[in-house]
Amino acid sequence: MDKFIDARLAALAPYTPGEQPQGAPCLKLNTNESPYPPAPGVAAAVAEAARKANRYPDPAAAGLARAMAAALGLKPEEVFLTNGSDEALAFLFQAFCPQGAAFADLTYGFYPVFARLYGLPAQVIPLREDLRLAPEDYANAGRTIFIANPNAPTGLALGREEMAAILRANPENLVVVDEAYVDFGGESAVPLLAEYENLVVVGTFSKSRALAGARLGYTAASAGVVGGLQRIRYSFNPYNLSRMSIAAGLAALEDESYFRQCRDNIVATREDAAQRLRGMGFVCTDSKANFLFARHPAFPGEVLYRALRRRDILVRWFDAPRARDYLRITVGTPQEMDALALALEDIIREGAGA
Ligand SMILES: *Cc1c(COP(=O)(O)O)cnc(C)c1O
Repeated sequence: MDKFIDARLAALAPYTPGEQPQGAPCLKLNTNESPYPPAPGVAAAVAEAARKANRYPDPAAAGLARAMAAALGLKPEEVFLTNGSDEALAFLFQAFCPQGAAFADLTYGFYPVFARLYGLPAQVIPLREDLRLAPEDYANAGRTIFIANPNAPTGLALGREEMAAILRANPENLVVVDEAYVDFGGESAVPLLAEYENLVVVGTFSKSRALAGARLGYTAASAGVVGGLQRIRYSFNPYNLSRMSIAAGLAALEDESYFRQCRDNIVATREDAAQRLRGMGFVCTDSKANFLFARHPAFPGEVLYRALRRRDILVRWFDAPRARDYLRITVGTPQEMDALALALEDIIREGAGA
């Protein structure tokens, strides 16, 4: 560790992103990106924006904020835009957790990292035996609650009424609902914003909008919370969205039919792939996301992960107590899921050797 780094941060264990191989082509089913390209209008919009890249972008990204607000049925002052939703989560951990943070034991791996980065006390609330998040476990948490819904890596989702129960049981604390995967079959909490001032919803263009490379996230909350988030952002990086990212986001939002078509394809492919894996003996959760969370009773997750890797297929395996048996497999195109299924059939037939 470098001697110049602040000792309080020297031992921080950072978040480990999924591999982003830059070399030989492989089947990439490890980071929940869209297998489909961005909306057809995105490339030209980005090229046009790049022509003005000598000038700073609009620090308020007002055009995109208006479009996002319209898409969510909110006012622009209830929407906050960030460089990926991870940036919004960072601001929320940094500035909206005066009593600390609470989150599940098996959820988005960034939550514990942010809690440590900002020196927050964290309460870890275990999922139930069946990996379900039980709303009653979150009553009177006494701190800011972070819930990914649908959850990652389980794919399991809470309904809007269950989320409302958590909001009612924590009137003095914020409940941050991370809806990175909501478009693939979850129920958004956004309509609850009218009723619950303690609700914050975080979303992203990275998954269902096929723009992981553009780095665009949004937060929907009361104008008061958004005002606080803007204070943090203007104290840190007022130009957090590039001209090119703003243009990409606008073009993606404009093409609703392309969005629906990609989403519907992914949902249909997910259901087909889950059925095929179950036919091979896998146990899959009832995922409402663009990934499957699957284990095979006869093979440890790590063995399958490594055997797939040898066949140039990347999936995600988490070396964590309750995730170790599972693979998290991003839903790709039907052809990609065919290739995955064939490889798994092969691996299982060979007894995972070789
Ligand atoms: C992918 C993901 C995010 C972050 O996405 P960004 O690319 O930073 O917008 C946030 N939360 C969860 C649960 C995710 O899976």
